[in-house]
Amino acid sequence: MIVLHNAFDDAYVFAADEVAAINRIGATSGCHTCGRRDPETRSGNWIGDLQPPTAVNHSGKPQRIFPHCLTCQRIQAGYVFELRRKNGFAGEGLPRPSAVVLVTGDRDTFEPPRAERGKVVFASTAGVSIGCRSGMDGTTCLRLLDADDRADADRPLFDGLIATPSRRLDVVTPDYRTLATRLVRETEIRLRIWCDHAVEPDQVDIAIG
Ligand SMILES: [Zn+2]
Repeated sequence: MIVLHNAFDDAYVFAADEVAAINRIGATSGCHTCGRRDPETRSGNWIGDLQPPTAVNHSGKPQRIFPHCLTCQRIQAGYVFELRRKNGFAGEGLPRPSAVVLVTGDRDTFEPPRAERGKVVFASTAGVSIGCRSGMDGTTCLRLLDADDRADADRPLFDGLIATPSRRLDVVTPDYRTLATRLVRETEIRLRIWCDHAVEPDQVDIAIG
């Protein structure tokens, strides 16, 4: 079993006065992408969205913070991953806890499935995108398990096959940092995922095989 978090030790954490300011703006103007008035987070906190996103801020432009809802933050994380994959750029700013964590058998071609409102696991045959806690409110603990590690009867939220053409499975963040890599024997493996919350989990178990 490997225990991971969707953030690195040096992750940027918003100060209390920044959280209060983002919440004030969110309450007045809603999500800056979709316009909804509900941040969709368990805490009720809006998510501070840095624009341009750190991971694609090539020229180090000054960044501004806007209120984002949970779904828009996750959708944007998928775009950021694709941009990072294509242009190979690593952001200079401190990483933040990721809106999603991606599990894929081919990180060099993976196109993350688009996040949907009110759900937590988004899947294609190339991999899955798993929603995490809002970066304003904490991190999500992910446990990477072998097939036998979780023998209880709880029905997984996701149970499906993922292509592993290079016989490896990577757990990566949208800014292309690798949390874990597992080598596998097959070119297709079974993945099961359990989350302790239907939308914004603290704990995610991922069983391989
Ligand atoms: Zn939104």
